[in-house]
Amino acid sequence: MLKILEAAGVDALDIDAGSYETIDYIFPPSYLGDACMEYVCDPARNAVGIPILNSGNHTPESAVSLIESKNADFVMFGRPLIADPDLPIKLLADMREDVRPCIRCNEECIGRIAGRLTKLSCAVNIQACNEARYEIKRATTTKNVVVVGGGPAGMKAARVAALKGHSVTLYEKLHTLGGQVTSAATPTFKNKLRELIDWYGIQLDKLGVEIKLNTMIQEDDPALEEADQIIVATGAVPIMNLC
Ligand code: SF4
Repeated sequence: MLKILEAAGVDALDIDAGSYETIDYIFPPSYLGDACMEYVCDPARNAVGIPILNSGNHTPESAVSLIESKNADFVMFGRPLIADPDLPIKLLADMREDVRPCIRCNEECIGRIAGRLTKLSCAVNIQACNEARYEIKRATTTKNVVVVGGGPAGMKAARVAALKGHSVTLYEKLHTLGGQVTSAATPTFKNKLRELIDWYGIQLDKLGVEIKLNTMIQEDDPALEEADQIIVATGAVPIMNLC
């Protein structure tokens, strides 16, 4: 088929393995792993001489590897650009560690499209398609902010407060950040969740957020008295206990 298309004058081929029969390959979830469709490039390269494009759970590293293998000429990113629209700029600026990872959950992008909701969003980037509404502006007054809980909500709150210029201290009772996401990230194929926790750790560090691990702050702690704002992000609990 590729030979026929090339002979018909097609300029380039976007090769992947997604179809309505294999719909999970159209927007591959985390369990399909990195670069899950690059294997189709080698036979395609041997069949035609026109440029080949490939997509599907690529990382910057897998993209470079595929290009260097000469089995593809372009690698495409979709969801990673929803999770972090600044991905190309950050890579150009040698800021790989600052690229916010797409966790391949398909919840707020594909899920909202499938549910015919008005516009997509992103589980890790609330500003996606809401850039004006959720613009992070510098605060006119610097406040002393205490965040209780180092899970995803606490890390997010601490990051945004620090970006706004506030002085932020985050308290986490465990020895590590991540909260309940840490448990969810245990399977190997959930490595993107692990990557997200690590990304938050790096960002909070760069923003100067003071992180107090192994610290279960008590209600009479003077730090709470001195805080201008207290954000309680101590994690969700089940609505019903089914055990
Ligand atoms: S909602 Fe965001 S993090 Fe989840 S798959 Fe879509 S782009 Fe990736």
